[in-house]
Amino acid sequence: MDNTKPENTKLENQVIIFLGAPGAGKGTQAARLATEHNLLQISTGDILRDHIARGTELGQRVEPIMKQGHLVPDDVLVSMIGEKLQTLEPVRVIFDGFPRTLAQAEALDQMLLQNGTPLNSVLLLEVPTEELIARIVNRGISSERSDDNETTARARQQVYHDLTQPVVEHYRKQGLVQALEGRGSTNEVYARILEAVQTPA
Ligand code: AMP
Repeated sequence: MDNTKPENTKLENQVIIFLGAPGAGKGTQAARLATEHNLLQISTGDILRDHIARGTELGQRVEPIMKQGHLVPDDVLVSMIGEKLQTLEPVRVIFDGFPRTLAQAEALDQMLLQNGTPLNSVLLLEVPTEELIARIVNRGISSERSDDNETTARARQQVYHDLTQPVVEHYRKQGLVQALEGRGSTNEVYARILEAVQTPA
């Protein structure tokens, strides 16, 4: 065995970002990829919802913002992710729901650079808007999320278009984006994701 390079690449730093509009399937797919590839899924939406559920100061602050489908201020997210990254060694993460603005993407670039951690893949799940709205409304039947209703779903799509689309362009310029068809069964989409992570852009 060649001891100069670790055989077990599982221990190497790895960062994957899932991009896609609300309802595109990021959470479901990121959770599966994380479990099967020994990565930590960091879902900023889940972290924020947990704060709301626990009634923390941050939770109380972000609850009305999230309910309307608006974005929580960048400084909150950037320090949340910065603190989290400092606790990880190695850094093996899938970001699901972050970065969502250009400012967040630039802050993440800096953090990864300082850490010497490469950004391996940016996967963009593409689903037409009307299907996304239908998925979210359907999810709302069981999710009990205050933002899973048609009015807020439409607001969230608009926010994605205005504030998160520039993030896609930011990574596209770096040649990192792999756009994937997000329609189809969960297994079909997952197969596309696996192929993409095995052949980075
Ligand atoms: P998600 O579960 O990813 O759809 O996020 C639900 C809500 O949490 C969003 O509509 C925002 O209000 C908030 N949120 C999650 N991630 C971020 C982020 N990176 N930046 C700002 N707000 C966020």
